[in-house]
Amino acid sequence: MEAFPPAEACYARVRRRFLAAARARGARLDSLTLPGRGPGGEALAVDIAWLGPARAPRLLVHTSGLHGVEGFAGSLVQRRLLEVLPEPPPGTAVVLVHGLNPWGMAWLRRVNEHNVDLNRNFLPRGGDWSGAPPAYALLDPLLNPPSPPRADGFYLRALWLLARHGLRPLAQGVAGGQYDYPRGLFYGGHRPEPSAAAYTHWLESRLPGVERLVTVDVHTGLGRWGRAMALHEHTGGALDAAARARAGLQPGAPAYTARGAMVHMYRRLAGDRPLDVVLQEHGTWPLLRMLHALREENRQYHYDDPQRLDHPARRRLLAAAFPASRRWRRRCVHHGVTLVRHLLEGLAGSES
Ligand SMILES: [Zn+2]
Repeated sequence: MEAFPPAEACYARVRRRFLAAARARGARLDSLTLPGRGPGGEALAVDIAWLGPARAPRLLVHTSGLHGVEGFAGSLVQRRLLEVLPEPPPGTAVVLVHGLNPWGMAWLRRVNEHNVDLNRNFLPRGGDWSGAPPAYALLDPLLNPPSPPRADGFYLRALWLLARHGLRPLAQGVAGGQYDYPRGLFYGGHRPEPSAAAYTHWLESRLPGVERLVTVDVHTGLGRWGRAMALHEHTGGALDAAARARAGLQPGAPAYTARGAMVHMYRRLAGDRPLDVVLQEHGTWPLLRMLHALREENRQYHYDDPQRLDHPARRRLLAAAFPASRRWRRRCVHHGVTLVRHLLEGLAGSES
């Protein structure tokens, strides 16, 4: 029997490799240690490698693992960046933030230890931690059946709902972020989660002196297999039109806007500084198949054995978020590195 998870999807190992690559590169390192442990008892942390001057007016921030299990792909990109990225141009720094949801990486879940989708957890201070899109109540029985994984006609029921209501309202209903179903998919939590709060605090402390900010957050599971989309979540003048075109940025989120998404935190912190926020998606499975994988893994966690990593539902989620295909991984790294090169060029070339 081969070991599971495989080495490239083992949090403790990929974390060690990231840290080793950052040290070999001579990066400054910060680690934000978090509560909780991985399945092997390993500590969990958000690790941050800083390349270039400590105080730089232009900052490019590259993040991985906001959605836990998706972070193995982002980690591959970041380790390659540490090897191949040239020194940042004068006045520019590059920051690689590894594993924003390390618990989810370690336990092969998209969400964190409180079932929170961290890309729905960045509500403003004093924000309203309640509510759900109107369609969510209708979708809850389909998305979140309170029973262990089993075949129950998901695809037929989903297709029927799609035919009846259309993709856009359903996508918004499913993925827009909800705060009322703590065991449900796309749950945003009821307070800032430790890793989201720690990262926000860390970034805030580094922003004095920064005049221009570009951010990239790496995800997987949306779009066509082996392709990448660079979704421009916020266009705020840190990149000019030519740089945006070179980087192939596409406008906004494709089918829905999420409450509490990380882009909102970046906008609050940046204030009136020029800011561009990019979300890179590396496509794997078709939408419904992806949703089904998320749903079955969620059932396994809540209604079967939550500790069991090698359950078929958990394996399937890993396959959906981080395909074992070498070709897929090569393409993911290629797209990931190319985007950063383009954005860095654009940021360095922008008028100050
Ligand atoms: Zn994601």
